[in-house]
Amino acid sequence: MQSRWNKHEARACADELELRAYSSRLLGREPALVLHGGGNTSVKGEATDVFGETRRVLFVKGSGWDLKSIGAAGFAPTDLEFLLRLARLEQLSDSEMMRQLRLATLNPSAPNPSVEAILHALIPHRYVDHTHADAVVTLSNSPDGESILRELYGDEVLVLPYIMPGFILARQVAAATRGADWTSLRGIVLLQHGIFSFHEDAEGSYSAMIELVDRAERELLRRAGAQPPAAGAKTPAENPPPRPIQGIHGTPTIHGTPTGIHGTPTGIHGTPMQYQENHGTPTAPPPTVLPLQLSRLRKAAGKIHGTPMLVRLEASPEACAFAQLDNCGELIRRGPLTPDHTLHAKPFGAVFDADPLPGLGDFEQEYLRYFQAHASEHHQCLDAAPRYGVWRDKGMVYLAPSCKRLEIVADISAHTIRAIKLAEAIGGWRALPHDKLFEVEYWELEQAKLAKARAAPEQQGKIALVTGAASGIGRATVEEMRSRGAAVIALDIREMEGLESPEVLCLRCDVTDSDAVQSVLNEGVLHFGGLDILVSNAGNFPSSESLADMTDEAWEQSMQLNLGSHMKVLRACLPLLENGFDPAVVFVASKNVPAPGPGAAAYSAAKAGLTQLARVAALEAGPLGIRVNVVHPNAVYDTGIWTEEVLGERARRYDMDVEQYKTSNLLGLEVSSRDVAASIAVLAGAAFSRTTGAQIPVDGGNERVV
Ligand code: ZN
Repeated sequence: MQSRWNKHEARACADELELRAYSSRLLGREPALVLHGGGNTSVKGEATDVFGETRRVLFVKGSGWDLKSIGAAGFAPTDLEFLLRLARLEQLSDSEMMRQLRLATLNPSAPNPSVEAILHALIPHRYVDHTHADAVVTLSNSPDGESILRELYGDEVLVLPYIMPGFILARQVAAATRGADWTSLRGIVLLQHGIFSFHEDAEGSYSAMIELVDRAERELLRRAGAQPPAAGAKTPAENPPPRPIQGIHGTPTIHGTPTGIHGTPTGIHGTPMQYQENHGTPTAPPPTVLPLQLSRLRKAAGKIHGTPMLVRLEASPEACAFAQLDNCGELIRRGPLTPDHTLHAKPFGAVFDADPLPGLGDFEQEYLRYFQAHASEHHQCLDAAPRYGVWRDKGMVYLAPSCKRLEIVADISAHTIRAIKLAEAIGGWRALPHDKLFEVEYWELEQAKLAKARAAPEQQGKIALVTGAASGIGRATVEEMRSRGAAVIALDIREMEGLESPEVLCLRCDVTDSDAVQSVLNEGVLHFGGLDILVSNAGNFPSSESLADMTDEAWEQSMQLNLGSHMKVLRACLPLLENGFDPAVVFVASKNVPAPGPGAAAYSAAKAGLTQLARVAALEAGPLGIRVNVVHPNAVYDTGIWTEEVLGERARRYDMDVEQYKTSNLLGLEVSSRDVAASIAVLAGAAFSRTTGAQIPVDGGNERVV
């Protein structure tokens, strides 16, 4: 553990609160100290109120703020004397404690103080830092953890047994430190929870945290290295061989690209999947087996959860090595790194065998038994779908109802399996017993949140695939789907600059190449778990050519991209859509289908073929529950090819100015990519759940179409 303290950055802080925020961010940037909102910090100071009276104030991290990004506004100024009086109460429910903490704040617009605020108040030092450091909790999750930590830290650190966070933890610390000599103490370890450090200045408190955790890390590694590996461990899987890059031909692409793009893009995004059988020899299964299995698992998990879920197969070398342990199924069920992880990841993991579905049912039963064993009548049972699991010989599986949650589960699980591996090497992984985990997962503060939960965005947990995503209608559709909560697999032969995010997986692909389509589809499904919506949009508009001048090449290129590629993408997606939630396909055709114009035979004929393809697809896919509809956009000018010059030239040809030309439709309104994207999203959503085989114009109204 290295100190990230920078004296120039520290000196640039305007006041103590800025400095407090600065050193908090240093802690937040270290995932081995805190993950996703874990940990909290404070500084004590003074403030003068409106009556001119000076009050002692605890500026403590507000709940909902993350140490990684916290600023001065993230700290709640709280009446320190009031907190110390609360600490002297014999009893206080956690809900009442939160109400009192709110009352103790000295600024009505401040965030709610951290649930550990009273504990911060009890420590007399000016600066207090608290993290859930992996090394400290890993040591304490081993059989001799407590004595190892006591020996390691001696009198410098107070080591306290695990107790539920909240008011009773504050009471425990108050009792344990009554009459303590704070000048000789540098920190407090809460077993199976985390560590506190404190000092009169910011750097001293931060440095104490780094130094104490560094000692724990070194001790853990020293002990783990000195012991033989855990029983049942096989040799870790080797790094996966790189996946062959699929052939990408120099064919034309995309709405808005006037001519073909030549050359072969390289550097396809993403890591290869590692397919390994039991004894380590990499073998490539039929390309769709694993994604199909994952999509079935996702469907079944979503049914248990009550809404669609995202599912990811993590096949990093660490995940594969864990999945190859003979006792991985037993280890994953032993419990989490710290009890607060149950809020994101449930108290234990699932175990998936070659057919993963029975493992899901087993988890559901086990979770319901756990609930029944510990619940009283006022507890409301949470869903019984797992959040992480091990898929034997394949890797780790993460499940969550949204992309944000999926990222959290992935991070927590990665840290947990690393900790399990180390703890196994020093005597065995021991998480807290189920009753303690249940206390946190079903904490009254968490149960109260259920009643206040807001409705999720319409497409949350759903997965859309959009082709031709780099620009124009495709790009607008990716953004529209994302804004409605969907995870998106974005395909294009070109770079999709600025589109990649945790919600959007950008994969470069020539959609006229069946193998390339299958390959990126597999990659996308392993990343998000399946497919619910296909927006088949890739296409181009060849330059105007009369039939007399038509070249074979122009004709065939248009047929290949504007028609053939759509069949190839649909064909590859259908088996996955069958396992989707309210699955829907939207084809982007053209006004040219109902109202063709001269000089666009190659384009219009391909788009007419595409419309007929969609009609047949609606007939074939309807009985499978998959809807297939078509949009016919027209005059969408906010794409690459329509420069002011081209528009001006077109407008002059019709004796109009550019504005008149853009709005020459029945409604007199310009049609933008975003307008088309919004129509596509609604057509793919619940509002059209009873519509298939329809063709919707998005053209501002055209007298030849009406
Ligand atoms: Zn904590």
